[in-house]
Amino acid sequence: MTTTNTTTRRPARPAAHDWRTSAACQGVDIETLYSDKPTEQHTVQRICGYCPVRVTCLRDALGYEASTYQVFGVAGGLLDWQRKALIVHAQLGERPNVQQARVLSSRVFAGFMQEWLDWPAETVAAELRAFGVLASPVTVRLALWWCGGRGSVLAPLPEGDRRVQWMQVRDECRPVVEMLRGHGLSNRDIVAFLGVAFHNFERAVRWWRSADAAVQDSPAQQQELGVAA
Ligand code: SF4
Repeated sequence: MTTTNTTTRRPARPAAHDWRTSAACQGVDIETLYSDKPTEQHTVQRICGYCPVRVTCLRDALGYEASTYQVFGVAGGLLDWQRKALIVHAQLGERPNVQQARVLSSRVFAGFMQEWLDWPAETVAAELRAFGVLASPVTVRLALWWCGGRGSVLAPLPEGDRRVQWMQVRDECRPVVEMLRGHGLSNRDIVAFLGVAFHNFERAVRWWRSADAAVQDSPAQQQELGVAA
């Protein structure tokens, strides 16, 4: 029987629909949803790929306004470090257009995106502009993650470049790391933003420190500072 509002004589509104009741991961073991094992995370991400509430789930997990986010496991099709990277983007004033990212990761764009999975998001955004699609790099980064790509902020190494990841961080990331630190971000935040392994980041930081110390210890530098013997 339909209930009515006695004041307006109109049918009472149904309770707000909870998006979780449409989640594709209903029934998936909770341990799997929060797992840190790559194979299990990949399984959940595949389910997220066809989840009708993926956008809402991601927004909920990011919780920008509350500055909180779900710490473990997969949510909205993203791993914890990917969600953390989006929080960092938001702190820097950039937020993805989640609906547009959904379109960019759909079948309509699949042919293009599969070609660009290893490219930096900025480069892909520039390519899309050439096709008349205006999307911010952070939106493209999210779409690349959803397509299974790296969505990196680091450019892929050119052929013949034999540097390993920590060397690339050492050579290319110091300005951005200093900028992020200037925004008060922790090392873990920065590592998530860069999408690199923590030990590679640490190694690059150690290298910068010892390079700075060597410069300060050099006779030329001491002379410049007026402290030479
Ligand atoms: S997006 Fe993934 S984690 Fe979120 S409700 Fe859907 S299936 Fe579950």
